[in-house]
Amino acid sequence: MKVLKFGGTSVGSAESIRNVKAIIESQNERKIVVVSAMSGVTNKLVEISTHLQSQKGENLPSLLQELKEKHLKLISELFPDSETQRVTNHLFEMQFAQFEEVISQEYHEGLEASIVTFGETFLSFIFSRYLENEGLSNTLLDAKDFMQISSVENPDIPTVEKLLQETLKREISSDLYITQGFVRLDRNRNISTLNRGGSDYSATIIAAAINASEVQIWTDIDGFHNNDPRFVENTSPLLNLTFEEAAELAYFGAKILHPQTVSPVKERNIPIYLKNTFTPKAPGTKISSDVKSKGLKAISAKDGITAIKIKSNRMLMAHGFLRKIFDVFDKHETAIDMITTSEIAISLTIDDNQNLDRILLELDAYGEITVDSEHSIICVVGEDVINDKDTFRLFELLNELPVRMISYGGSSNNISLLVDTKNKVEALRLLNRKLFEKTVHTEN
Ligand code: ASP
Ligand code: MG
Repeated sequence: MKVLKFGGTSVGSAESIRNVKAIIESQNERKIVVVSAMSGVTNKLVEISTHLQSQKGENLPSLLQELKEKHLKLISELFPDSETQRVTNHLFEMQFAQFEEVISQEYHEGLEASIVTFGETFLSFIFSRYLENEGLSNTLLDAKDFMQISSVENPDIPTVEKLLQETLKREISSDLYITQGFVRLDRNRNISTLNRGGSDYSATIIAAAINASEVQIWTDIDGFHNNDPRFVENTSPLLNLTFEEAAELAYFGAKILHPQTVSPVKERNIPIYLKNTFTPKAPGTKISSDVKSKGLKAISAKDGITAIKIKSNRMLMAHGFLRKIFDVFDKHETAIDMITTSEIAISLTIDDNQNLDRILLELDAYGEITVDSEHSIICVVGEDVINDKDTFRLFELLNELPVRMISYGGSSNNISLLVDTKNKVEALRLLNRKLFEKTVHTEN
């Protein structure tokens, strides 16, 4: 069995949904297809939820109207025949009424997840009916029957596997299953999510649970690029990445993939193909355990980084100092990304500022603290990149831009630089010129 995932823009209009149908039809093996919401819909649902929370209801009717009309328009375009259109409209209206019932409840913390996951509910329903109507018989699965995931960071795959097997036994057997991404049940069986962009992650969790032969993630760009195409010209798609390289790139800002996507399939060695719905013939990027080439491969950048420096003479030749510092971050459940140390100072970065004030208050006892916000981590990735003969050119960047921290050697596959976000785009362009435009990569 294969798992195919189609995200926002791939299911954002009737035309792209027709492309998706052609992609599904062109592949023979049995499949589970994971869909996200239509593009723009989850944002709208977040807006609705925020309105309810703040009890500012004045825009609510128009938001609801827009949401409903967007889906009704899609139905009218996908079901030209008036009778099937009427029936589908009717069923959708019933689903929408359920949604309105959910939002009519008094706002409580758990309600947000129920609201924002409706985009996937709506779209999977319309999509499944559309395929059926076009002669592609399929079974629609409710992801809430099997996506029981207590910890987003560490999903218990055997539980999902057991529940999914039970679901598949119970439902009508098919060569094509459709289900919703993004949604999960938490440890109390309440509706929750896998965080924004999480349907990629849904796809790899499902793939791991059924031991799929492969996962295909269909988006609107032709795979991972060797640099960020939003900021840098002349980037090129990468044909192959290892699981580690893809994980580093996704974590450090390459927006194409949800950062946790790789981990469930990596352990089971299930390849991921990143493909473009709009140019399905393009090869895209294959992510697998194959190391096709070593050395410099790609650059990505992650914004919203805060650097914290703790300077203390007490650190000089003392042991246990770092542990005390790390304990503060641990206590406030804040992950550290980069670290550099000297004999009397330590600099580290975090990307989650929620508990920053409390962390700083406690760190104050250990020395003089400096905080720099609005920084970006630039991450240079490739198998064994630290031994690439061109990597030294990376350090030429220091001549041209201030670099706040460098992390080299923590892993042989990644070198990270911390720069002020206002210098990020220039740093990406300079690195592109220094690292890629000079070297000719015939194979990636
Ligand atoms: N629809 C959800 C979101 O917009 C999940 C996803 O697209 O992967 O975040
Ligand atoms: Mg996405």
